[in-house]
Amino acid sequence: MTKRHLLMTGPMMRMVMEQLDAAYTVHRLWEAEDADAMIGEISDKIEAIAVGPHTPVDGPLMSRLPNLKIVSNFGVGYDTVDAKWAGAHGIYVTNTPDVLTEEVADTTLGLLLMTVRQLSESERYLRAGRWETEGPFPLTKASLRDRRIGIVGLGRIGKAIARRLDAFRVPVVYHGRSEQADVPYGYYANLVDMARDVDILLSVAPGGTATNHMINAEVLDALGPDGILINVGRGSVVDEKALVEALKSGTILSAGLDVFEDEPHVPADLIEMEHVVLLPHVGSASVHTRNQMGQLCVDNLKSYFETGKPLTPVVETPLRD
Ligand code: NDP
Repeated sequence: MTKRHLLMTGPMMRMVMEQLDAAYTVHRLWEAEDADAMIGEISDKIEAIAVGPHTPVDGPLMSRLPNLKIVSNFGVGYDTVDAKWAGAHGIYVTNTPDVLTEEVADTTLGLLLMTVRQLSESERYLRAGRWETEGPFPLTKASLRDRRIGIVGLGRIGKAIARRLDAFRVPVVYHGRSEQADVPYGYYANLVDMARDVDILLSVAPGGTATNHMINAEVLDALGPDGILINVGRGSVVDEKALVEALKSGTILSAGLDVFEDEPHVPADLIEMEHVVLLPHVGSASVHTRNQMGQLCVDNLKSYFETGKPLTPVVETPLRD
């Protein structure tokens, strides 16, 4: 039986590549000497795209593939795929929701505690022999006690984080585009108002034009000199320049970041700040969870070609009858 043709825009996990190689004729775009010429040669054949992080799939690319039916995105965030364009042209886009929710929430609580209690800095202090020579690590200014957290983006992951914070007995409020009926947390329609009322702003909002630089100088100013920003959503949501300025000037106290505007580049200004915690986008990065994400990425393609329906289409490309 002839295999369907699939375009892979960048390297993916081995277990994903092996399964896709077995099921489809896979064209590896990043290996082509001339990517443009390669697309020209295979454009009529391609029925699917498999896409990992940091490799955009935009309208101009999809418009060159007249038989494209589905774009399977590895990861729940799909801001690098123009899903609106795909939806308008009858192409499904799928992502990998739910299977990573609890892992990302676990990582977020780790990052939160590391930042609030300066745990990375205190470990470096011990490893440098300073405990023995200089005495105890200084008391941390911040604490989770008597603090309120404002979550930006109370979706699947945001709710899993909030559940953990309930157990920590830390009050939670949230901001999103609309108030949710069945959640026990206070809602703020205005992000600046929420930032003013909380001690810690925790963003787990998706990337894309609608959220770009949503956390800007005005929001950081409202968060205030004891305030801490945690970002595990997307780097583009935070105005990184404004954040560096706010940290330097003491407009806010600290930050814990798993995501950055121009990954894997992290501004030197941030790296120099000892009390700021910086993680290399590891929210979902365990073998267990990445395998589940990889499997869902493959299964979306298989399900579509076997039944005509993918398993987890994104909201811009809902299931069709
Ligand atoms: P969901 O779609 O379940 O939740 C997203 C939330 O963001 C919703 O509550 C939504 O609320 C809110 N939101 C969307 N647009 C806006 C906006 N313009 N302004 C304010 N709020 C907005 O997604 P998940 O919880 O599954 O994932 C969230 C994001 O986390 C992903 O998109 C991804 O970017 C990031 N992520 C990061 C990981 C990491 O490794 N660091 C790993 C996995 C995900 P409403 O509709 O009411 O506005």
